[in-house]
Amino acid sequence: MSKFFTDRLSKLKPYTPGEQPKDMQYIKLNTNESPFAPSQAVSNAVLAESKKLQLYSDPECVNVRRELARVYNVDINKVIVTNGSDEVLNFAFMAFADEKKPLVFPNITYGFYPVLAELNRIPYTEIPLKDDFTIDINDYIGVNKTVVIANPNAPTGIALTLQEIEKIVASNPNNIVIIDEAYVDFGGESAVSLVDKYDNLLVTQTFSKSRSMAGARLGFGIGNEKLIADLNTIRYSTNPYNVNRMTDAAGAAALADNDYYMNNCKKIVENRKWTVAALQQLGFDVLPSKANFVFAKNDKIDGEKLYLELKKRGVLVRHFTKEKICQYNRITIGTMEQMQKLIDTVSLILKEN
Ligand code: PMP
Repeated sequence: MSKFFTDRLSKLKPYTPGEQPKDMQYIKLNTNESPFAPSQAVSNAVLAESKKLQLYSDPECVNVRRELARVYNVDINKVIVTNGSDEVLNFAFMAFADEKKPLVFPNITYGFYPVLAELNRIPYTEIPLKDDFTIDINDYIGVNKTVVIANPNAPTGIALTLQEIEKIVASNPNNIVIIDEAYVDFGGESAVSLVDKYDNLLVTQTFSKSRSMAGARLGFGIGNEKLIADLNTIRYSTNPYNVNRMTDAAGAAALADNDYYMNNCKKIVENRKWTVAALQQLGFDVLPSKANFVFAKNDKIDGEKLYLELKKRGVLVRHFTKEKICQYNRITIGTMEQMQKLIDTVSLILKEN
């Protein structure tokens, strides 16, 4: 740390992204990317826009917002797009939470929430999950704080129903409830249908998972027009050109090809079912996932050891060191070929152990 770094930030513990090692070719099941390439129309759109890079991007991102409004059946003024959904989460924390409206989220959830809270000096409370790793919605009913819930949750993959989400939103009319739906397309129920009914609901989603665009950085928020206007105030005060012109065009092209992506999601759901059964055959406890990953442990092998042994053999999964979950590994669901390789490698490791 330099002597110039401010006292205020000197204790900030930054988020640790999943590793992206370059030493060898891995079967990458550690950062919940899609195993499928984007559609041809997306590549074409990127190429066309790349020839106009001397020009700024459209700060209103009308191309992709218009398509989002069509696909999600909402008014375009209810949509904001950002540089990945991490950015819309940051904007929302900045806009809607402070000492008077502190944050509350589960203890075990997406690791970026506490980091963004610290960065923005927002007090926060973490509420432990139940022993079975589910969220007890009663903890959030009338909690009178700014609520953030990943649905499905990460890294557990467990989802709340739309009815449960609605109860939380309806019971906190004076606070924003942020529902982070990064993984919703793999079997969850989206709360987008509730944004006309509740002015305190912000739903965030991403193109990084179901739409094969993690490398393009495109996220979005859907909510009441006034909320979106507030988020735009933050956006225009930080980075009005937050989405580059290739990504704006790529997002619009992806939505025009939505069937391709939703069909890929179906394949992932099928592969997830196969993987869960195969892991259970090998003695794993697997949490019930509605996401493009599973969270699993096996009492016959230490969680970190399994992660390291897999890595040695060219299969990357995500291991977290937090005590409550350190026996588990989060495994992204890829193609059948990748999942077969995972299961073969795990079997081998268990035999040798
Ligand atoms: N929310 C959750 C729960 C996530 O796991 C992720 C991915 N790490 C994100 C949001 C952000 O993803 P992105 O910035 O790529 O949209």
